[in-house]
Amino acid sequence: MRIGIPHIGNLYIPLRAMFKKLDVDYVTPPPNTRRTLSLGVKYSPEGLCIPFKLTLGNFIEIAELGADTLVMPGSYGTCRLGYYAKTQDKILKDLGYNIEMIQMGVSEQKLLGLMKIIKRLANNASWRKIISVYTFCQKKMNDMDRIERLVQKVRAVEIEKGTANRIFKEALDAIDKADDSRTLKEVQTGYIERLNNVEKDPDARPLVVGITGEFYVVLEPFSNYDIESELGKLGVEVRRTTFLSEWTKFSLFLNPLGINEKDRIHRAALPYLKRDIGGDGWESIGEKVLHSNEYDGIVHLAPFTCMPEIIAQNIMPTTRENIPVLTIICDEQMTKTGVLTRLEAFVDLLKHKRRAGNGSRLKIAV
Ligand code: SF4
Repeated sequence: MRIGIPHIGNLYIPLRAMFKKLDVDYVTPPPNTRRTLSLGVKYSPEGLCIPFKLTLGNFIEIAELGADTLVMPGSYGTCRLGYYAKTQDKILKDLGYNIEMIQMGVSEQKLLGLMKIIKRLANNASWRKIISVYTFCQKKMNDMDRIERLVQKVRAVEIEKGTANRIFKEALDAIDKADDSRTLKEVQTGYIERLNNVEKDPDARPLVVGITGEFYVVLEPFSNYDIESELGKLGVEVRRTTFLSEWTKFSLFLNPLGINEKDRIHRAALPYLKRDIGGDGWESIGEKVLHSNEYDGIVHLAPFTCMPEIIAQNIMPTTRENIPVLTIICDEQMTKTGVLTRLEAFVDLLKHKRRAGNGSRLKIAV
C-alpha cells in the first residue's frame, strides 16, 4: 500500500513524520506547480473551485509516483467539499489509475475517527504507538505555526527583505528532519531566536492586515501567489487566525468537549448573517467584524465559484464596522501581476487612511 494525501500548506511535514514512524509507505506530493494546476484544470468539471482542481492535480502526480491509496480530507457540510472524494475517485479511475480513495471527515469523525483511519493505514499498529506518533506530529505542527506567526511579524520590518522567508524555509527543513521531541524543541528555540535577532527597522509602524477567507486558499500559498510574503515585502504585518495546528487542536480535541473556537466569530457575524452557509463564509464575516478595530484592513481570499465566500463578499460592504476589505478571487485565471497591482493599490489606500487618522469615515470595499 502506498499512501498519498494532497497538499495543504506544510501539512506534508507532520504527515511524512507520522507515516515514517508507523512504517507506512507515504508518497510526498511534488510541490504545487503550474503543472499540478494544469492537470487539475484539465480533468475537473469547469465550474469547480480551485481546492478541487489543485487537489486533483496532486492526486494525479502522486498516482504517477505509484501511490495507490489516496486520502481526501473532507466533511459533510453545506458546501460541495463532501462530494469531492467521490468525484475525484471517479475521475482518477476513468483516467485509468488503479487507486482506492478514502474520505477522511475530520470534522465529523473527530479524533477517534482519525485514529481509526490511521490504524487501518498503519497495518493495525497498536493504539499506544498511534497515540505517541500522533502527539509527536501535533508538536511538529505547533512548532511550524509558532515560527510562522513570528515570520509574519518579522517580514514587515526586516531591513533585508527576504531574510525571514529564508529562515522560515530552513526552519521547515529542520522541523522536517527532527526525529524526536528534544531535537524539535531545540529547533524551535533556535529558529525563534534567529528570527528575533533579524535586523529590523526600529522606526517601522507596519500596517496590520488580516487574512481571512476559505480554509484551503488561506493555507495553501500556491493558490494565492503567496500573498503573505508579498504583503511582507510591502511592509505589512499579516495576521490570520487559521492555522493547521489550531484547527486540529479544536476539531479533534476541543470541539468534542463543547469548546468551539468559532463561537465568538459566529456571534460577531450574527447581526449580518444568522446561520452557517457552508465552508468558511460565516467566519469570514465574523472576522471582519471582530477585528475591525485591530487591523488596518482585511484581505479576503475567495475561490472562484465558492458560494459561501461569494455570500460573505456581498455582505462585507454592508457591515457597520468600517474597515477596508480587498477580496481576491483565486482561480487558475489569476495572474501574479494582477494580484500584486491590487495589493499595492490596497496598501497605498491603507497608508492614506492611517495618515488621515483613525477617525476617517472612509468606507471602502474593493
Ligand atoms: S468552501 Fe468553497 S472553495 Fe472550499 S470546498 Fe467549499 S465550495 Fe469549494
